[in-house]
Amino acid sequence: MNNISLPVTKSFNCDVLVLGGGCAGFSAAVCAARHGAEVILADINGFLGGTATAGLVGPFMTSFDTEGKTQLIRGFFDEFVKRMEGNGGAIHPSKMDFGNSYTAYRTAGHRNCSVFDSEAYKALAEEICIENNIKLMYHMMFIKTDTENSRITSAYFATKDGIYKITAKIFIDCSGDADMAYAAGVPMQNSTETQSSSLFFTVGGVDKAAMDKHMLEAHNMEEKFYMKEIITEREQGRFPISRAKIALYESTDGSWRVNMSQLDNVDSTKPEEVTSAEIAGRKQIKYIMDFLKNNVAGCERITLIQSAPALGVRESRRIVGEYILTLEDISVGKRFEDSVFCCSNSIDIHKKGGVDYIPTKLKGAYYIPYRSLLAKSIDNLLVAGRCISADRTVMAAIRVMPPCFAMGQAAGTAAALSLNSEACPKNISVAELTDALIAGGVYLP
Ligand SMILES: Cc1cc2nc3c(=O)[nH]c(=O)nc-3n(C[C@H](O)[C@H](O)[C@H](O)COP(=O)(O)OP(=O)(O)OC[C@H]3O[C@@H](n4cnc5c(N)ncnc54)[C@H](O)[C@@H]3O)c2cc1C
Repeated sequence: MNNISLPVTKSFNCDVLVLGGGCAGFSAAVCAARHGAEVILADINGFLGGTATAGLVGPFMTSFDTEGKTQLIRGFFDEFVKRMEGNGGAIHPSKMDFGNSYTAYRTAGHRNCSVFDSEAYKALAEEICIENNIKLMYHMMFIKTDTENSRITSAYFATKDGIYKITAKIFIDCSGDADMAYAAGVPMQNSTETQSSSLFFTVGGVDKAAMDKHMLEAHNMEEKFYMKEIITEREQGRFPISRAKIALYESTDGSWRVNMSQLDNVDSTKPEEVTSAEIAGRKQIKYIMDFLKNNVAGCERITLIQSAPALGVRESRRIVGEYILTLEDISVGKRFEDSVFCCSNSIDIHKKGGVDYIPTKLKGAYYIPYRSLLAKSIDNLLVAGRCISADRTVMAAIRVMPPCFAMGQAAGTAAALSLNSEACPKNISVAELTDALIAGGVYLP
């Protein structure tokens, strides 16, 4: 390995540095700031949202229990959705049925999804960060850390202006890929497989009445969803994509998101692999557009609005934390002393040739322990979002956006309590943390 040494052009200091402005990082930054911390939120993008906006992914998967009776993920997630709804950019999950245009006409696992528009998300997220005095630093590519005595002392970012250095007391890695944890030497879980990635895109010109009629009257909306047509088109060489179902979601802005591309075995930490996947994904869009126009009622006159600015990555690194949440834990709904939220999301593994979808059978909820957010071997590092310490199958359920918001709320709140009590995150009082989360609207039965 070549070790390059570059001069630092600017330095910054804060209490809490959050890496990554996706659902987890945004939530972590706001919740840390609301508890008195001075926060910097840094991202390579020029806007917030991560996969929710750069990936054009949506809707928010369920935040309710499997029967749609109780909202499990509340707190900051709920506040954000309600405010977005107030701006006309979302529909609250309590008002969302399933088997309709907003849920891609799906029923399984799509009860109480929450549709949102990505521009409404970006604008409101920034507004909330500014309200909470968070210093937003865009166009910052995290590259490395300095560590001393099992603590991160500073993080370094590549920018057009040279290398920026940020020192902080607590660091929260919400990069999705655990970039900061990895750079700081936190052990990662081994995995021989990686879920497929997808390049979302949006279309206009859907004839909703025709689509509704066709989907709701003429088709069994569940497992055999358009398989036959896709397989026929594939055999004729007109659909060279391994994804086998149609998935078209209406948004609040009148556009429709299409989740039908599939890029297998992409390592999102390798830019050359991501580049190839993005090029291949954009090529797939043409085939998908033709398929939709020729096979799906209501899509005859669709036009492409945009392909997602970034590839949607379902899986990459996961840290080894103080506790690795297991499939057994979530299957029985194990309640931990340090539970920080609960949810009911189903296991959803996308892979070449199909999807392993395992619906949650629990009537109640399963729980996520605080220890799964604590990085092993680094004392002042918390992790939230799609890279926490959970086994591969569990991550396939909790990687969706509402749980990522809840993880962020827990990590941000814990970071602030750690500063206030002068104890490292591992040693804060779990009772105080859960009290603070409940005061912040988190549902913890
Ligand atoms: C194809 C696909 C479909 C999905 N469908 C749904 C769905 O319908 N509903 C649902 O709820 N969830 C869905 N998900 C899951 C969900 O969108 C993501 O898992 C979730 O948004 C992850 O949030 P996060 O905050 O952990 O990470 P991300 O959203 O990935 O955010 C990470 C942020 O960190 C930044 N970053 C990363 N590395 C660096 C670095 N080195 N330097 C600076 N910045 C960095 C990124 O720019 C990004 O903004 C889907 C995911 C995919 C990929």
